[in-house]
Amino acid sequence: MVLTVVLLGPVPASSQVDEVHALLKHADSPGFTTMTDEGREVLDRLLDRHAHATPRQQVHIRLIEARNIAIAGDYERGVEILSSLIEQEMDPDQHLRALVLLANLLLQIDRYHEAFTHLKEAIDRAPDVDSSVHRGRVYSLAAYWYGEVGDTDQATEMARLAERQVDEMDDPWVACIALEKLGLAWRAMNELLTARRIAERALTYCTKAGDPVYITAVTRQLGQIHFLLGNDERAETELVQAIELARENGYVDGLLQAQLALARLLKRQQRITEAAELLNTSIEDMESRQRWRHLRDARRLLGEIAHREGYLEAAFRHFSRYLDAHQRHLAALRSRATAFHEIQFDARARQQELELLREQARIEELEDLARQQQWRIQLVSFGLIAFLMVILSLLIVHTIRDRRHYRTLSRRDSLSGLRNHTSFFEAAIAALERCQRKNKPATLVLGDIDHFKQVNDTCGHLVGDDIIRRVASRLQEAFGRHGITGRIGGEEFAVLLPGKDEAQALKHVEKMRQSLQKTRQSDPEQRVTISFGIARSRPEQTMDDLRQAADDALYAAKHAGRDQVVVADESAT
Ligand code: GH3
Ligand code: MG
Ligand code: MG
Repeated sequence: MVLTVVLLGPVPASSQVDEVHALLKHADSPGFTTMTDEGREVLDRLLDRHAHATPRQQVHIRLIEARNIAIAGDYERGVEILSSLIEQEMDPDQHLRALVLLANLLLQIDRYHEAFTHLKEAIDRAPDVDSSVHRGRVYSLAAYWYGEVGDTDQATEMARLAERQVDEMDDPWVACIALEKLGLAWRAMNELLTARRIAERALTYCTKAGDPVYITAVTRQLGQIHFLLGNDERAETELVQAIELARENGYVDGLLQAQLALARLLKRQQRITEAAELLNTSIEDMESRQRWRHLRDARRLLGEIAHREGYLEAAFRHFSRYLDAHQRHLAALRSRATAFHEIQFDARARQQELELLREQARIEELEDLARQQQWRIQLVSFGLIAFLMVILSLLIVHTIRDRRHYRTLSRRDSLSGLRNHTSFFEAAIAALERCQRKNKPATLVLGDIDHFKQVNDTCGHLVGDDIIRRVASRLQEAFGRHGITGRIGGEEFAVLLPGKDEAQALKHVEKMRQSLQKTRQSDPEQRVTISFGIARSRPEQTMDDLRQAADDALYAAKHAGRDQVVVADESAT
């Protein structure tokens, strides 16, 4: 809502923006608090000019407002301002600053769960913010609180990170703030020498920056560390100074803590009256502010003092109050630890969930890849199968054609083109049987070229071959359509004429002989004559019988002088 107003509102006049800039710079300077009249006036002027500031300045104003309200003791109101502020759009560095401040304030008022949530978010966001100043704030606060809840590993890691940021900073004030928290963190881990080194470094930076609140806090811290190290003298000097500074700056919490620390030191040194006086002056504030830890320590000290002095009733009163404060403090500690562990657990669960999601995404990716690969393999397989099928079909077609070709070749006589011996007799036997079944005649004609040996001898084998081809051709012309023609020997031919008797066969043979005669007349070189034997089949006669009869007739024709036709005598066989 606020953002919309900002975006749609009038463009801020540059003079007002400059003025806000100057005020912010002042308000952001070390030691600025609204405790003073001047401080209050600056904040009022900033708030007045809020509407005319740039969005970044507006966020900055809110941050300063929240911080100063909290320093003045109203943590709840500071939290309220910051909670609504972090809902707004703002630059990452400002968001980080708001988160850290909010976490810090929430921790002061024991709202640990919210505090750790924001602190965790700030730790997560810190690496993305390009400012060692802001990162330093996050890590030092985290170091302190991890130390407080007893997670020393995390506290140490955060402390080291924070110190590295401090080394990179060129802002003494922020270095002062970071190191102050860092000192507390090491002290919480009982690393007193490291804590002292850090606190001394912090004091140098805070003094350089001139921030009285932090000078106070670090001085008290140093006093407490010296107390724990047994350097009573140093401890007293620091603590007395811390009390003075806190008083001067209206830093109530700082004052209470320093007084308590000094009272503890006084008691250790047997300066009982001084200790009791000091405690009695601060205990009321502690109570009204519900500082249970301080109260617990103060009550115990008072109880012990009273007991020692023999004021038993007072001692009893202090101890019972001590128990009450102790219980409240423990409850706060418990809820702090619970909140912290819940957040840690949440974070771990989220981490695991994220890892699971990432794993699932990876599995899905792999599945996708596998599917794609499978699809590619299928495609290649299909292609391969199709290719093989084409090759196979081509091979089959080729083989069939070859087989047909070879069968034809095997059934044909290559020289004459007529059926060969086997093929002729197969076809002739089948035709003869058909004719016999149908009671039809069938006639076999055998022809043999006369004196062919001589032709070969005189004219050569090539001429002989040519003659064989011509004879075959004439034979085909004369009988082709009517019968089955074949070359059954070197210069021997056979024709089966189904459905024809010897007279019809004779007619064909005559036609053939006439055509041969014509050839002889036109080409005297081709003096070829043929002798024929003709036999007609009779019922129950086999092809062998029929062939024998025709052969006998042919023999007779040769014997009778060649170039003639002899028809087998039916009665002869
Ligand atoms: P005949 O009148 O008694 O039949 O006498 P012929 O010489 O024709 O008979 P013979 O059986 O003594 O000789 C057949 C000859 O045919 C022998 C062989 O040289 C010849 N011959 C067989 N096959 C072929 C062939 O394919 N080409 C050629 N050029 N000659 C062949
Ligand atoms: Mg012969
Ligand atoms: Mg012959």
